[in-house]
Amino acid sequence: MKTGIFGGTFDPIHIGHIISVLEVKLKFGLDRVIFIPARQSPHKTLKPSDDDDRVEMLRKATAGYEGIGLDTVELQREGRSFTYDTAVYLKEKYPEDELYFLMGTDQYESFESWYRHEDLLEMMKFIVMMRHSDDVDIANPFIRADQLVVEISSTLVRARIGQGLPYRHFLDASVYEYIKENALYETQSST
Ligand code: ATP
Repeated sequence: MKTGIFGGTFDPIHIGHIISVLEVKLKFGLDRVIFIPARQSPHKTLKPSDDDDRVEMLRKATAGYEGIGLDTVELQREGRSFTYDTAVYLKEKYPEDELYFLMGTDQYESFESWYRHEDLLEMMKFIVMMRHSDDVDIANPFIRADQLVVEISSTLVRARIGQGLPYRHFLDASVYEYIKENALYETQSST
């Protein structure tokens, strides 16, 4: 099996995530893609949603897509979550699978600072997804996705909510409803 791994904070999950992952799944013939929410990063400008909210939104947004799964392993682990630890876990869990780690160009550009990044390159293949229409050079052994590009970020979604501007079109309808019902991202945090 070809298994894709997609990590992120998903705060919140938006259609940029869904479209790029589904397009990459199709293009590279991945049998499944597993979303892995990371622990919350402390430096957000708007009130961050908690782990349960992020997982619930992920569940809603990915429900009904064939071959799309969710694994909360990083939320269960104490301390900082390193992709390396997750890769060790996944190789043990799916010993027969070819693992493809999906990441956006922003992650690709910081990859050399990742813990044990050279080992990571031996453990999985890496597919880099474009986030902007302007070109980014992708070096070997990374695989360039060249998928349909959607320039939406969670930062943009949170900013729009904070400013009281339209954001519904950036989200799966179920996620939009969830954010409204729970009044997420509306208040500025003091940090
Ligand atoms: P934030 O704006 O809070 O930094 P984000 O929109 O970048 O969030 P993350 O949850 O941090 O979302 O991203 C998870 C992964 O998805 C990362 O590898 C990121 O590069 C990628 N990604 C996010 N948005 C897009 C998009 N619109 N197109 C392609 N990849 C994306």
